[in-house]
Amino acid sequence: MRYKCCDYLLHQIVFDQTDIKPCCATSMNKESAKFIDNFNGGDFDIDEYIKQRNQYIEMFKQGNIPNCCKDCPMIREDDWDEKNLYFDRIIMANIAKCSCNCIYCVYTYNNPELKQYYNTKKSYDIKPILKKLRDSNLLNNNILLIIGGGECSEFPKGELEWLIYFTSFNNGRIQILSSGIKYSKAIEQILRYGKAELSISPDSGTKKTFEKIKRVKAFEQVWENLTRYINAANTNKNAMAEIKYIIIPNINDNISEVKSFLNKCKKINCKNLHIDVEHHWYAENKNKPVPEKIKTIIKYINQNKQDMYVSYSVETNNWLNQCNGD
Ligand code: SF4
Ligand code: SF4
Repeated sequence: MRYKCCDYLLHQIVFDQTDIKPCCATSMNKESAKFIDNFNGGDFDIDEYIKQRNQYIEMFKQGNIPNCCKDCPMIREDDWDEKNLYFDRIIMANIAKCSCNCIYCVYTYNNPELKQYYNTKKSYDIKPILKKLRDSNLLNNNILLIIGGGECSEFPKGELEWLIYFTSFNNGRIQILSSGIKYSKAIEQILRYGKAELSISPDSGTKKTFEKIKRVKAFEQVWENLTRYINAANTNKNAMAEIKYIIIPNINDNISEVKSFLNKCKKINCKNLHIDVEHHWYAENKNKPVPEKIKTIIKYINQNKQDMYVSYSVETNNWLNQCNGD
C-alpha cells in the first residue's frame, strides 16, 4: 500500500538514556516518539514496542500524522513493505560518558552541570537486548549499529569489542562517532576489516579554535589518532573514515580556520569530509536565508577539496545545498 511514512519508524530502533524509540528527532528541536519510556535495564518488552510502532504505522496509513512526526524531513511516500518489519539500523545512545566537552553537545547544551552527572551515570546494558532481538528474528541480515555519543573508546573494557563482534557476526556494519581523543585499537582494526564507518569532528584546524569548541586540550592527540584511523580506512575500500566540520557561527565560520582544517585533512590523506551546521543554531535559523559567511565557506570547500568527497547531514542537506547553486 502506498502512503506517507518514514524508514526510521519501520526499521530503526534507538536506545536512548531512559527510553527506546524509532528516532532521535533532537535536531528538529522536539520530542520524538517514546515507545518504551523510563527504561533503566532489565527485560526489554519487545511486544510492547512492536504494538506502539504498529499504532504509529496505522496512523500514517490513515494520513493522520502523529504530532511528534509533523514536518519531519524523513517522511516520504512509498509502497511500504509491512511484511518485513525487521530492524536494520540500531542507534546506541544510552551511554553519555565522554571526556570531551563540546559546546554543542546535546547532553549538556542547556545545562553544563549535567556533565558530571552523565560522566558518572550507570547506563543499562544493551547486550541482552541485542541478543533478544536477534533470537526473535527481528534483526535484518545486514544491520548497521550506530554508536552515537558518549564516547565508545571509553566504554567499559571489552564492551566496544563485544559490539563489534556481535555486529560482524550478524553480517553487519558499525558506524562510530568518536571524539578521537582516546585511541582505540578495536576501531583501527575494524576499519582495516572494512566493516566500519568512523566520524570524528575536530571542527577546527587550529588548536585555539579546537579548545574553544571542545573545551579540552587534545588538539594534537585527535589529529594523531585521525592519522592512524585514516591510514587504516585507506587500506580497505569498504571502510570509511570521515572528518567533520560543524560550522558554528561566530566561532569557526571563517575561511582562515577552514583553510587550516582542509590543509590538515589533505596532509593525512583524508578522503571524506562531512560538513554540518551547529544544530541548535540551525533550528533557530533554518527559515532565514543562508548567511553569506556560510555560503563562502561551502564554496571555498568545494573549490579546494581536491579529491575529497564532501557530504552534508540529512537535516541540513537542503539548506547547505543551496550554497552550491550560487
Ligand atoms: S519524527 Fe520523523 S524520523 Fe521520527 S518516526 Fe516520526 S517521521 Fe520518522
Ligand atoms: S564528543 Fe560527542 S558526546 Fe562527547 S562532548 Fe562532544 S558531542 Fe558530546
